[in-house]
Amino acid sequence: MKIDILHAGYCTAPEHIAIHGGRWRSIHFPAMFALFRHPKFGAMLFDTGYSHRFFDETKKFPKRFYRWMTPVTLHEEDLAVNQLAGFDLRPQDISHVFISHFHADHIASLPDLAWSRFIYMPHAFSRLRNLPSSEDMKHAFLRGLIPSDFDSRSQEVDMSKPILLSEEYAPFKTGYDLLGDGFIIGVELPGHAHGQMGLFVRDENGKLFFFVADAAWLKRSIVENRPPHKIANILFPDSEAYRETLGNLHSYYLTHPDTHVIPSHCEDTIQFFKTPQG
Ligand SMILES: [Zn+2]
Repeated sequence: MKIDILHAGYCTAPEHIAIHGGRWRSIHFPAMFALFRHPKFGAMLFDTGYSHRFFDETKKFPKRFYRWMTPVTLHEEDLAVNQLAGFDLRPQDISHVFISHFHADHIASLPDLAWSRFIYMPHAFSRLRNLPSSEDMKHAFLRGLIPSDFDSRSQEVDMSKPILLSEEYAPFKTGYDLLGDGFIIGVELPGHAHGQMGLFVRDENGKLFFFVADAAWLKRSIVENRPPHKIANILFPDSEAYRETLGNLHSYYLTHPDTHVIPSHCEDTIQFFKTPQG
């Protein structure tokens, strides 16, 4: 399977919020998405990055605060669908979209992917959809980004069928074989958002990638086991679980130097993969 790490737009925010002890200046947080080209299932995405719908959905108050807090830069050529065209892919070629969690910077192009199946942890969406819309902001959720036929194309992860992971994945003990062929393993990364899902994905050369979404905003957080500023805890539904997940990622990182561990918004990491991998 071929893996390409891309991003659609970026926002800016102070580094010292994203990581304890960070600098007092704003840095870029690219909105990563990944393209998987699987021999049997064809082209698939992990998340989608931003789209112009982010701006449409944040025109009015109080949602306008969302774009004030995280000012977004997005060019036409950055859109996931436009970047896919560079791989000779049309939206109808994308068979599946694996959704890490439902924050707007991860799902803004779902409406452009009108043919795909959406795979996500059940509690990632069930909690949000039942909230009064007045609480959307608190959860960085813009419900206008959810396609109208979302339910009919959803394929929630069957949490009654976890698989035991080998020592190779320690300290992660259980996961979900999302396609049934062992190529894409979903794992729970609790803390940052309800039902956040990370992915272990193996490429055609046997190299393992671990997409950890927003379990850490910067790779350095994982390397140094260094959490965000404590003010960021107000953004998380479970800050204790966040800390525990970060500790697990740190321990995984130390014991698996050959795995590419990839947070979704770390500019250094995304720059490293900027050249398409094949
Ligand atoms: Zn997030």
